[in-house]
Amino acid sequence: MAPLTVGVVRERAAGERRVALVPGDLARLTRVAARGGAPPVVLVEADAGRAARHDNAAYAAAGADVVTADELDARADLVLAVGRPAPHRLRTGQVVVGMLAGRSGDGYVADLAGLGVTAVSLDLVPRTLSRAQEMDALTSQATVAGYRAVILAANAFERYFPMLVTAAGTAKPAEVLVLGAGVAGLAAIGTARRLGAVVRAYDVRAAAREEAASVGAEVIVPGVLADATGAGGYARELTADEQRAATAELAARVVRHDVVIATAQVPGRRPPLLVDEETVKAMAPGSVLVDLASGPLGGNVALSVPDRTVVTDNGVTVIGAGNLPSSMAAAASAAYSRNVVALLGHLLRDGELAFDPTDEIHASVVATRNGEVRS
Ligand code: NAD
Repeated sequence: MAPLTVGVVRERAAGERRVALVPGDLARLTRVAARGGAPPVVLVEADAGRAARHDNAAYAAAGADVVTADELDARADLVLAVGRPAPHRLRTGQVVVGMLAGRSGDGYVADLAGLGVTAVSLDLVPRTLSRAQEMDALTSQATVAGYRAVILAANAFERYFPMLVTAAGTAKPAEVLVLGAGVAGLAAIGTARRLGAVVRAYDVRAAAREEAASVGAEVIVPGVLADATGAGGYARELTADEQRAATAELAARVVRHDVVIATAQVPGRRPPLLVDEETVKAMAPGSVLVDLASGPLGGNVALSVPDRTVVTDNGVTVIGAGNLPSSMAAAASAAYSRNVVALLGHLLRDGELAFDPTDEIHASVVATRNGEVRS
C-alpha cells in the first residue's frame, strides 16, 4: 500500500502567520499516520512556516519534503491548514483538516462537499468532552488571544499595571475589567493578575463567573439577569431590552476602570455591544479598551475597528483586536499543531480516515464526507 501523503499548506489569508504543523510535531504525526506500517510522506509548501519562525530547513531536517504549492496540491492525500484552503486547490478524494466551518455557516463546506473533498474542522471539536480537550483549537487559540490582549493593553496603557512603591512615590495598581469570562477572558484575567493589576470580571453565565472567581478575579454579578446560559453551555443572545439594561448597568462600572478587555461572543450571532459610545467617552483619559469581539459585524465596544487602534478626543484608546493568535504565530502554531496531531491520532487508522459515526468526536468534526454536508 502506498504511504499516506500529508501536505502542510502555506496560509494565504491576509495577515495569517500561523502554520498547521510545526517541525517538532513531525515525528508525532509520523506515528499516527503510518499506513500499513509505512510512515507517511510529509510535504511542506515552501515558506509555510516562515512567518511562524520555522524555516524550510527546519522542516527538511525533521524529515519533510519542501515543495511548491502545485506539487503539494497534486500529491497530498491529507491537507493540513489553519484557515480555509481555496477550493480550487483541492480535489476529489482529498481530506482537508483546518478551522473550516467558522462560527456562522456559509457556503464553504458545501463547496467542498460538491468537490468530493472530506472536510475535518477543528472548530467543530466537542468542547466539553474531556478526551477532546487536546484537540480543541478554539480553546488553544482563544488562550493566546486572551493573553495577547492584556499585553497589548499594558503596552498602550501609560501607567503601571502593578502597585509599585519607589523612592519617587507609590503607583497604584491598574484596575482591569474583563467582560466575558470564557476561554479568552480567563486567560486575560490570569495574565492581568500576573502583571499585578486588580482584576474584575463580568459574564452573563453563572458558570463563567465561578471560573473567573477561581482564577482570582473579583466577580461582578449582573443585577439585571442571573444566568443566560444557552445551547451547548455557551451564552444565549440577550433580548434587545435585556442587553440595553445590562449595558446601562455596566457603564457605571466600566468608567471606574483603567483597562477593559472585552471578549463576549454568542455563537452564530453578532457580538453584544457591552460598552456604548457615551461610556467610552466618559472614561478617564489614558484608559484603554481592547475589543476581542471586534469584527465585520461589530464588537463589544463602540468605536472599535478590527485591526485598528482609535484614540478618542478625550484620550481613551480603543484597540480593535484582529487575529491575535496570528500576532503570536509561534506559540499559536505550536498549540494548533498539537491539536491537529491529537485529532488525527483519533481519526486515522492504518493511514486512513476511519470514520465512526457513533463516536462523538468523529461525528462532530467531519463536516462533509462523500458529498454529504454533515454539520
Ligand atoms: P465565547 O467566545 O462564545 O464567549 C466568551 C464569553 O462571553 C462567554 O463566557 C460568554 O458567556 C460571554 N458572553 C456572551 N454574551 C455576553 C453578554 N451579553 N454579556 C457578557 N458576557 C457575555 O465562549 P468560549 O470562551 O469560546 O467558550 C465558552 C463555552 O465553551 C463555555 O460553555 C465553556 O464551558 C465551554 N468550553 C468548555 C471547555 C471544556 O469543558 N473543556 C473548553 C472550552 C470551552
